[in-house]
Amino acid sequence: MKILMVSSEATPFAKAGGLADAVSALSRALQRAGHDVRILLPRYYCVDRTKLERVTESFSVEWPAGSIQAGLYKSVLPSSKVPVYFIDHEGLFGRDGIYGTKAEPDFADNTERFGLLSRAAFKLCRHLSWFPDILHAHDWPTSLVPVYLRELERGGDFARTASVLTVHNLGYQGAYPAGRFPSTGLPWERFGPAGFERGSTLNLLAAGIHSADFLTTVSPTYAREIQTPALGAGLDGLLRHRSASLVGILNGVDESEWNPESDPHIPRTYGPASLSAKDESKARLQAAMGLPIDPTVPLIGMTTRLSEQKGIGELFGPLHGSAWRICTEMRVQMAILGSGETWCEDELRSLASRLPNFRARIGYDEALAHLITAGSDFFLMPSHYEPCGLAQLYALRYGTLPIVRRTGGLADTVENYDETSGSGTGFMFDQLTPSSVFDTAGWAVWAWYNRPAQVLEMRKRAMSRVFSWDRSAAEYLKLYEMALAAAKKAGAAH
Ligand code: ADP
Repeated sequence: MKILMVSSEATPFAKAGGLADAVSALSRALQRAGHDVRILLPRYYCVDRTKLERVTESFSVEWPAGSIQAGLYKSVLPSSKVPVYFIDHEGLFGRDGIYGTKAEPDFADNTERFGLLSRAAFKLCRHLSWFPDILHAHDWPTSLVPVYLRELERGGDFARTASVLTVHNLGYQGAYPAGRFPSTGLPWERFGPAGFERGSTLNLLAAGIHSADFLTTVSPTYAREIQTPALGAGLDGLLRHRSASLVGILNGVDESEWNPESDPHIPRTYGPASLSAKDESKARLQAAMGLPIDPTVPLIGMTTRLSEQKGIGELFGPLHGSAWRICTEMRVQMAILGSGETWCEDELRSLASRLPNFRARIGYDEALAHLITAGSDFFLMPSHYEPCGLAQLYALRYGTLPIVRRTGGLADTVENYDETSGSGTGFMFDQLTPSSVFDTAGWAVWAWYNRPAQVLEMRKRAMSRVFSWDRSAAEYLKLYEMALAAAKKAGAAH
């Protein structure tokens, strides 16, 4: 099959979260399965143009109001032969930030920026005389791809192309004032019928969900949850309407990046049979964070975007934070890596200055993320909602037991500890409150001190759980077939 991934992120070129890892790993796995997969990304400032091959200087993307002149560059996805194309436009992408910056979290021209990216997908295919079976879009930034396919391109070159939209996180929808609709390049009479209209706003993700031939999200539980008012973020009705074309496919672990048996970021590699070498990562992590080097105290790690979704209010909120209680009422250490909301960054610094057993690193640090995954005993993820969650999959792979809320992909990938049998791969709770986080961390710490043999067995069990991208890719291929059948039916009905 020929598949074009159109995405705002792909590791290692541009990453803000799990989306980047998922797009690259899925592309590699599809290529391993013998398919012709390519990726289109914007050439952000963080992508060094001198390391790319120039395809053409004059790449003009047609818009109703006149075409936009851009450049086209090319590279190859590491550990694969997947071609990665970059659309280059100084005015729209030549600046720091993928979606925005600290000062301007959501750039004022994001509809133009990601509109151009989405429109460029069609131009790229024409330029290459390569017409994919599947146009695979990801989240709100490329939700216009299925819309353009349906609204502008159903005949001609793309008559046999189907669109798939993967929702990696329903919490971000690309919602803007309706007055920005003309920047999509579509005529006003399509605002309602093409699915953009949500109340008085323009909603890019809603239009993508409305238009895509098939929809996926990143875990079976999340696929069900987003069809309920509680977790549907206002789009549950639309998702229920499309439920026959919506499936949840778990993300996997990219072994070329996350494998304790070959990880270059840890002092000594280890596997299930050499778990004692994990202690060296713990000591290195304690040293790196400025914690006392002590193998006899359990270490709870966390690497995360500091956003409300991740439970930071319950953990660090100054009035009811549970991190303070965990560190003052238990013999434990905590090591946090994250960046995001300013109040939380400030609170983490403040906690670190007051607690000898709490350390935080503010920023984005890939190497430290690996060391935290390997060197911690437990990995904390008390998310309000979690579409799939990659960090807990990495933790399981490294024998670091997750402490998680039973939601979304966390519910699908972690098995709760049972003290009587010793079964399980982590520690789970249902309601997200400061005291449930505290209690469940306390349960894990209790097991660490009082049931060390069970904890060791849990680590080995966690490492043996396989979350393979090859298996996920096989599921994507099945639904690509379904999307093609749906597109064919829609074409015949036209
Ligand atoms: P989300 O996509 O919601 O951010 P995931 O768990 O799916 O959550 O993926 C997060 C990814 O980003 C993981 O690979 C995690 O290690 C990484 N990550 C998050 N914050 C940081 C950070 N500050 N430094 C390094 N890696 C980070």
